Amino acid sequence: MTTPPLVNRLALIGVGLIGSSIARGARAQGVARSIVATARSPATRRRVAELGIADQVVETNAAAAEGADLVIVSIPVGACGAVAAEIGAHLKPGAIVSDVGSVKSAVLRDMAPHIPKGVHFVPAHPVAGTEHSGPDAGFAELFVNRWCILTPPPGADPAAVQRLAAFWRALGANVEAMSAEHHDLVLGITSHLPHLIAYTIVGTAEELGQVTRSEVLQFSAGGFRDFTRIAASDPTMWRDVFLANKDAVLEMLGRFNEDLSLLTRAIRNGDGKALFDHFTRTRAIRRGIVEIGQDSPAPDFGRAHPDLPHEPLPRPYAAEN
Ligand code: NAP
Repeated sequence: MTTPPLVNRLALIGVGLIGSSIARGARAQGVARSIVATARSPATRRRVAELGIADQVVETNAAAAEGADLVIVSIPVGACGAVAAEIGAHLKPGAIVSDVGSVKSAVLRDMAPHIPKGVHFVPAHPVAGTEHSGPDAGFAELFVNRWCILTPPPGADPAAVQRLAAFWRALGANVEAMSAEHHDLVLGITSHLPHLIAYTIVGTAEELGQVTRSEVLQFSAGGFRDFTRIAASDPTMWRDVFLANKDAVLEMLGRFNEDLSLLTRAIRNGDGKALFDHFTRTRAIRRGIVEIGQDSPAPDFGRAHPDLPHEPLPRPYAAEN
């Protein structure tokens, strides 16, 4: 006996990296009887139809929401309020409305007023992504073994929260619930600040001028390259993240600047012990992340090096043992 799909009609509003990964994952896992999708531009809607990742592609957000049991809005956080206003009157009683935005308090503030009584609003954030955008960038396995954080507002229906949690688990994610404020603080340090640092350092290097820039690219494997990957993330999405999570980001930036000053002073004073102790602590954090399965232990983030010789490296580069 097969179990019936969790969702009868799944509506996806916005089909970029995240929306298209949800479509592909939901299809692969058979969690929805049918998937209806829409996107802002005709070009994206056309591409979604070509890719065949939804059963139906419709022109308006209202048409997508009509009759859906689960509506997931996967667009930049700054646009979520306007979309909620458009779909509010078209939601069926008992439906669940959710999103995937990287900031939760602002989304809750902007969307909640437009969700009618009898419809369950459960914001969510799958903590998974890449630096690529658009419907071609998604893949069904994006959420496997990643966390999806649900931020149900006080008084949310527990059955609706459980249903959304089951949906994300079916796509391979681990699910945790917390308040929107707590989410924004935690993600402020684990995601938003690292992106700000990457955007800054890549911008600074770019400003160093033509000669330096060519050297920056040439020697990028020295660490810079990993910043450039993060700094290639979608400008609209990240503009909205910093505007929407202003307070938490400023709080984390304040702490970061204090710690940077301490390291600056250690370098100026030639305080090797302070530097060594700090780097030892951060190395342990990296190893902890690998231990809990949130990254690969492979050197260089598991990047393939097809051009490297398979023979052991000659001395003096190879380790003695
Ligand atoms: P994406 O690939 O750039 O796709 C964005 C989608 O939103 C597209 O369908 C786009 O439509 C639509 N859109 C853009 N501006 C809009 C507007 N003003 N009104 C209505 N629709 C609009 O972005 P994504 O990476 O999937 O990100 C979507 C959401 O997921 C964001 O809220 C982001 O914070 C969150 N998120 C992203 C990541 C990540 O790593 N990328 C991870 C977790 C969560 P058109 O194609 O028609 O322009």
